[in-house]
Amino acid sequence: MGSLRVEKLSVAYRTSRHLVRAVSDVSFSVERGKILALWGHSGCGKSTIMKALLGLPLDDPGWVGGQAWFNGEPVSPIADNYIAHKQDGSIRKDSLGFYRQQQKLLKPLLGVSWRTVLQEPIYSFEMSRLMDVQVRNSIRHMTNNGKGRFDALLGEFSSYLEKLDLTLDYLEDRVNLQLSGGECQRIGLAMNLVGNPGLMLVDEPTTAMDNQTRQVANQIIREKVKSSGMSVLLASHNRDELLALADSIVVLCSGEVVERFDRKIMDGTDVNAFHPYTRKLWFSFDAGEISARGAGAEVGSPKKGCPFVRECPIAGADSVLREKCAAQKPELRAVSGDHEIACWALEGEQK
Ligand code: SF4
Repeated sequence: MGSLRVEKLSVAYRTSRHLVRAVSDVSFSVERGKILALWGHSGCGKSTIMKALLGLPLDDPGWVGGQAWFNGEPVSPIADNYIAHKQDGSIRKDSLGFYRQQQKLLKPLLGVSWRTVLQEPIYSFEMSRLMDVQVRNSIRHMTNNGKGRFDALLGEFSSYLEKLDLTLDYLEDRVNLQLSGGECQRIGLAMNLVGNPGLMLVDEPTTAMDNQTRQVANQIIREKVKSSGMSVLLASHNRDELLALADSIVVLCSGEVVERFDRKIMDGTDVNAFHPYTRKLWFSFDAGEISARGAGAEVGSPKKGCPFVRECPIAGADSVLREKCAAQKPELRAVSGDHEIACWALEGEQK
């Protein structure tokens, strides 16, 4: 069994006129000692999945459903129970029971066995507190105030920091707003790698870093996974980051899984063997685009058919196929041992 298993995770937002499914029935497993990446354009649901798993408030009023387990233990409310948020983002009274249940399940894990490096690294830290104090407090929390262990973890943190071209002294008299996004990201990464994390949830973990530091950061993450058996759930739009880090990849288009594969399959495989949306991701990364209209969750998206139908060049060139793609949702289907694609064009015949 994977160290993190997620079943049918769904998130929906209420707008003034629509209920928008930002994430629809997403399932995956992150095995122990492996890195699983969620890949898709900005707005495809990657960060929403992270937030839902961490029990964080959604950006807009909405619902979260589905179920997740960590090492076989539940870490989310049971399926079909939803956490509803009000217009101001607060939890609705009728959902407080489920919300508290999730918080109770997550509390012993967060910052101890579960570590997070999320987007907006500056805001991962408190505004007015010296960075040095914040880091020490976080490490103390990981050790349950064990002094010897604290010193060992602080030493480990310091060594990561130095590999990432920063020092403990540099943090002594600075608060987060005096640091760059890249510096905050490096500090957050170093802090969350120390000790024995069981799972890291990382959302675009190196976006604010320069290329050279990014390579060092990726190497540190891989070494930690190998030496500790830590599992990583990575969300990224960055193809090169995925190639450097991931063991397996789940491709999300408008909040739906359209493809999953072993990362090794990308070596030496013709890009035309992948889902049409994955091909678009591949080439738009070369072109420097990180978001594309129609690739993210949108009000009025045609949720009953293929989420890529409006942009798909294959369906666009075949009116009969397009009609089917717009009306019926393709299921994931194995094309090889470690590769599944949801696409009617692979079915050979149109039913
Ligand atoms: S199911 Fe249809 S619209 Fe979707 S990717 Fe395949 S051919 Fe294109």
